[in-house]
Amino acid sequence: MTSGSLNARRRERELAELAAGERVDVVVVGGGVTGAGIALDAASRGLSVALVEAHDLAFGTSRWSSKLVHGGLRYLAHGELGLAHESAVERGIMMTRTAPHLTRAMPQLFPLYPSTSRAQQALVAAGLRAGDGLRRAARTPSSVLPRPRSVPAAEALALAPGLAAHGLRGALLAYDGALVDDARLVVSLARTAASFGARILTRLSATSLTADRVSVVDGVSGSTADIHARQVINATGVWAGTLTGAVRLRPSLGSHLVLAPGTVPMGTTSVNIGVPGETNRFVFLLPQPDGRVYLGLTDEPVSGPIPDVPVVPESDVDFLLSLASSVLARPLTRADVAGSYAGLRPLVEGGGRSADLSRKHAVLAGSDGLLTVVGGKLTTYRRMAEDAVDAAVKLAGLSTSPCRTARLPLLGAAPRSSLSLVDAAPRLVARYGTEAPRVAALGELDAEFAEPVAPGSDITAAEVVWAVRNEGALDVADVLERRTRLALIPSDAEAARARVAELVDKSLAGLT
Ligand SMILES: Cc1cc2nc3c(=O)[nH]c(=O)nc-3n(C[C@H](O)[C@H](O)[C@H](O)COP(=O)(O)OP(=O)(O)OC[C@H]3O[C@@H](n4cnc5c(N)ncnc54)[C@H](O)[C@@H]3O)c2cc1C
Repeated sequence: MTSGSLNARRRERELAELAAGERVDVVVVGGGVTGAGIALDAASRGLSVALVEAHDLAFGTSRWSSKLVHGGLRYLAHGELGLAHESAVERGIMMTRTAPHLTRAMPQLFPLYPSTSRAQQALVAAGLRAGDGLRRAARTPSSVLPRPRSVPAAEALALAPGLAAHGLRGALLAYDGALVDDARLVVSLARTAASFGARILTRLSATSLTADRVSVVDGVSGSTADIHARQVINATGVWAGTLTGAVRLRPSLGSHLVLAPGTVPMGTTSVNIGVPGETNRFVFLLPQPDGRVYLGLTDEPVSGPIPDVPVVPESDVDFLLSLASSVLARPLTRADVAGSYAGLRPLVEGGGRSADLSRKHAVLAGSDGLLTVVGGKLTTYRRMAEDAVDAAVKLAGLSTSPCRTARLPLLGAAPRSSLSLVDAAPRLVARYGTEAPRVAALGELDAEFAEPVAPGSDITAAEVVWAVRNEGALDVADVLERRTRLALIPSDAEAARARVAELVDKSLAGLT
């Protein structure tokens, strides 16, 4: 096995090897969860792999999610039983085998106020029981995701102290999976792929694709090259249609607001608020391990050119604040919004409202032999990758072993019982798993690395150094926006920027 460390020096070496004409089995275009998952699947089957990403790992939609590992409950309401089951199975695989370190069970509270009719309450309760049925069918133990139950008002308030007490008659409590961070999952997938020899090349933009060749521009040097492969796979998410005519997407914008720690007293339990007039749509208050709370989510079709970084529409801010305020003791105002983010779902064209479009994924072979993989969810990335690599193997006649990712722990993964014994701060274990002691050791070698990057921040200098040496961060933006999520609150990023810049420069210089 090769090292799972990604950095500027490795990138330079591997890019030179490919630009010199070396042909690989598979080139994956796109470094989101789908592309990184495909790189891991293919490399762990013994195929030679290169992944090219125009910007940085998790630059696209994969960093703008709600960070949930869904059990597929909402698909049941659409009658998509197969998809619901697939989601529950993939959730179980991630939480118990491949990424226990990056996932946790998130309690979800559905508070019951006079505005919730008894019929609505019965509907939600039935849905939660069905969701628990999915968990059982997927063989995920209740020790990992406890069964749903009703709780009295006093317990609901103890779990989510920010809720309005007036009129609260109780709540329904269920559990779903949540990620410590979506971008960390992508980085972890890419590094695990790299440990099987995959070349993970960021700042490399594909300008044209055929079934066996990708023309690229290097965003660092400006030079161009052709990379040759037995099979090219287009995994560029919402941008997929810009590189091939074989796929038609109907992007849908989803917004979240970011509340600073302490804005809403929340504990670790999320709160789900039904959207008035809808039976299967909720707005969520999602507490994060760092104390921030994400408030989302919207679902609106958009048209026109795909922006690099989508912007939250003003109307979404009002919608989310007013719905959350309807259940909180202290209504939220715009002054409470510390940050916001929006992402584009890469939904495959079909009829109906975008909220009703299927989240199924599609593996499409163009008449030219180029494979494109789109749709799906972060939760189902592994299954998407398996289907894509199976198709590539068939199409290009590659000889390889069967998919093994359902049993392949990502770098840093270990059973939950072992994670609790890892000798490092729990916050680091939740982000780095069994690698946490190596991150902490940087701070033991050099005391300045143990310090936070800004007063009051929980991110240490050691994490920045680790990001540059091992996680492929090439500049300050990679660190602020994706390896850490400091930039989700712009003032947090500004407070840390100068120190992070100093650490990035020093760490890059130390690589040579
Ligand atoms: C608001 C929102 C909330 C969501 N919440 C959840 C959730 O909680 N749970 C869940 O399971 N799913 C969730 N999803 C869905 C999930 O986030 C997406 O399905 C998934 O991240 C898509 O990943 P991807 O890798 O296909 O696309 P992306 O992450 O967009 O990756 C595509 C990559 O391709 C790169 N690229 C584009 N063009 C080129 C080019 N020419 N050359 C090289 N690279 C290129 C881009 O830079 C990008 O990094 C959510 C989606 C949204 C929008």
